[in-house]
Amino acid sequence: MEKILVTGGAGYIGSHACKALKAAGFIPVTFDNLATGWKDAVKFGPFEEGDLLDRARLDEVFAAHAPVAVMHFAALSQVGESMQVPGKYWRVNVGGSLNLIEAAAEAGCKHFVFSSTCATYGDQDNVVLDEDSAQRPINAYGASKRAIEDMLHDFGASAGLESVIFRYFNVAGADRDAEVGEFHRPETHLVPLILDAIDGKRDALTIFGTDYDTPDGTCIRDYVHVCDLVDAHLLGLTWLRAGKGSRVFNLGTGEGFSVREVMNRAAEVTGREVPTQEGARRAGDCTKLVSGSVRAERELGWTPRRSTLEHMVADAWKWHQSGHYEK
Ligand code: UDP
Repeated sequence: MEKILVTGGAGYIGSHACKALKAAGFIPVTFDNLATGWKDAVKFGPFEEGDLLDRARLDEVFAAHAPVAVMHFAALSQVGESMQVPGKYWRVNVGGSLNLIEAAAEAGCKHFVFSSTCATYGDQDNVVLDEDSAQRPINAYGASKRAIEDMLHDFGASAGLESVIFRYFNVAGADRDAEVGEFHRPETHLVPLILDAIDGKRDALTIFGTDYDTPDGTCIRDYVHVCDLVDAHLLGLTWLRAGKGSRVFNLGTGEGFSVREVMNRAAEVTGREVPTQEGARRAGDCTKLVSGSVRAERELGWTPRRSTLEHMVADAWKWHQSGHYEK
């Protein structure tokens, strides 16, 4: 069976990707430093502990497994933190990715699937965000991901490394069997924080800003179910292996929901109230990020099946209550 190197395979999205890769007949080899990932989430293939900043370790892993492709999920991904300690984001995300991309190119591994982000677009009022939109990130997280996109472009030209770049909108939900799910410490993402507030693991959800220029004053995001997202990665892999070349795809549904709308839906799905408090804006947050593109549907044949708020909250709630999820 062919191997795929999955950086960040012990993390939220990476672990779901490993499950999907195994189901598709590949061996997912997880490369993870366990800084934010969890060893217990590595269930679907071999584990290679290592750090992207350790180039020698990467070379060792490429030599040991000869992967036919890389899926690169490993990254620091908190918008707020990236504004406080930008150097960490540039070092880990950009420096780590440079090591990985060079190691892949030198090992002759020519196919690369990269997790980028809608945060590379920045705050663009009334603009439909498609893949050709200008990229003007307003936080260090988005800036670091844009730099990696540029890097992949350069390595495509010089080393023949072909990449599918996915610009994720907001990922939520969990595996339907609750084998894997979202588990960050500290947690910073909206849906798990709402569920924590609902079941008393935290006092209240703080709404970051109620004075945005949106109908209810809170930020709007486009939420995608993690299982739909990893389906797109499998299609991206097939795309590269069919020789279709490098391409960028947004992964969003095209529908935006405000923070309050997500809270209300979570209350409906769980049948419980969400204790909330209103707080200040979080530095680096864009007012609205919604995909305006159907390129992934049209070209990859991607169909988001579980990306309704109901499904995302219900699956996240099931995971939350599964016992895997501990305080
Ligand atoms: N958010 C919030 N309170 C929280 C965490 C997040 O109001 O405790 C808001 C945040 O300002 C953003 C949305 O929820 O508008 C999604 O934030 P998240 O951190 O989940 O993802 P991001 O959009 O930063 O990638």
